[in-house]
Amino acid sequence: MPERPPSSPRGGRSGRPARPRPAPSTAAGTAEAADHADAASEAPRPLPPPSSALGAAFAAALQGGPERAAAARPPLRSGAAALAGADAGRDRVDGYVDFLHAAPTPFHAVAGVVRRLQTAGFVERALGAPFDIEPGERAIVVHPDGRSVIALHIGERSPVETGYALVGAHTDSPDLRLRLNPVAQSAGTVLLTTQFHGGLIRRSWLDRPLALAGAVHQIVRLRNGQPAFHAITGQPIVTRRLVHLDAPIGVIPDIAIHLDREKNEKGPINPQGWLNAVLATGEGEPDRALSALSERLGVSLERLDGFDLHLVPWQRPVRAGIDRSLVVGPRHDDLAMVWSALEGMMTAVARVPNPLRTRVAAFFDAEETGSLTSSGAASSFLRDVLVRVARRHPATAAGQDPEQAFAHTFCISADMAHAWHPNHPELHDKQHAPRINQGVVVKANAADRYATSGETAATFVALCEAAGARVQDFVIRQDLVCGSTIGPITAAQLGVRTVDVGCPQWAMHSACETCGADDLAAMVDVLGAFYAGGA
Ligand SMILES: [Zn+2]
Repeated sequence: MPERPPSSPRGGRSGRPARPRPAPSTAAGTAEAADHADAASEAPRPLPPPSSALGAAFAAALQGGPERAAAARPPLRSGAAALAGADAGRDRVDGYVDFLHAAPTPFHAVAGVVRRLQTAGFVERALGAPFDIEPGERAIVVHPDGRSVIALHIGERSPVETGYALVGAHTDSPDLRLRLNPVAQSAGTVLLTTQFHGGLIRRSWLDRPLALAGAVHQIVRLRNGQPAFHAITGQPIVTRRLVHLDAPIGVIPDIAIHLDREKNEKGPINPQGWLNAVLATGEGEPDRALSALSERLGVSLERLDGFDLHLVPWQRPVRAGIDRSLVVGPRHDDLAMVWSALEGMMTAVARVPNPLRTRVAAFFDAEETGSLTSSGAASSFLRDVLVRVARRHPATAAGQDPEQAFAHTFCISADMAHAWHPNHPELHDKQHAPRINQGVVVKANAADRYATSGETAATFVALCEAAGARVQDFVIRQDLVCGSTIGPITAAQLGVRTVDVGCPQWAMHSACETCGADDLAAMVDVLGAFYAGGA
């Protein structure tokens, strides 16, 4: 395959060598594994070859490395400009910080998405009612479980002809959730016992103030105390209420080094007994502690009929770094991409308010546990909605099948990517090591853990060029196991061409992760260009 030019006329991939194309079925991976330790020599350098790895590191530092590339960036994308208050991206990313902080659980993420869409005229439609949609309509479909949501901007033409412009991301993050009977006592304390969701980095949850958020459910009862049943469905009526106690109500203490001298060398954390949070102190105090918690929540925990309550880091995300170029906080995976898709949609709606093609943003719960839930990416939720929209679109002619839409659809699966780590550079294949704030990332995996193909990667690169955004590549070291995401699942459910992309971040699945502000702004631009059809 021919190499691409090092930069596009519109600024894409500025300052970087052309992306090396994948060379499947070669021994390259093995060779990389053998020489990975010399990470400082990752890029061509004009200086004379250093005599040692240390020399190479100094040479790279003296040359500026990433800073040199940053200087070549358009001024509106530099962290320094953000510091000076002159960066148009700054307000947007500060908006992400607000969005993230207000979304401690998938329930809240969905509610935040709905609120944001409503500011642009999107209106909620019930999944259980007919889809009598109109071209130009802006619709929101929340799954009945409240943890997944689909936004639709209906195009003038039938999806049967145009396909959908589809972006997917996920609303859940690894976290700790209360067990069904969570209150316990130990060592003079009242504990909230937990179970874990997803592959969280357990130690990151220790010694950190924790807040409580989620949904609480109550059975609606008749005057005689019996449960009320729905007149038509015949089901008991249960209400849902979102709660977010944004206060440090608990902590999971680590063990002192004096009591565990080997903890810096070893130290597995058994989630059965290790990850329970201290809610209060005092023997025999669970009732009083629960009452106090109930009062703060505004919900009687003793009388709850059901709950989905999460312990979440009590931490407002912040812009960090002397140039404010980093965003440090929980749940970047994957709320950073939920937000980017949302803002991309808003950008496109403002730019092209009456599109020909229907725009779709689908935000799924349960990616961290495999997506096999009623509203996860492996469910029928998205497919059902898309088929119904294509069938009911006024421009769909008699004799046309709604499934025709999938043949023309392109899906961008947006989930975070592993950034090259400054203290552990050996963990990346040096040819596929995305840098923070150096561009959005295409992720590929020959074992199909990502849905990216050569064609879909090229399509995404074209969007990046149209948006003036730089693009980087990620392929995991061939001696490590690759993670996955909703991309392959959505692709399989719909049979649509899909690319897996993301923004680089450090410490994925930690209670506190770090990503780059410039990359988020770039992803908004790229997804906006996708939705706008290149306009
Ligand atoms: Zn993710």
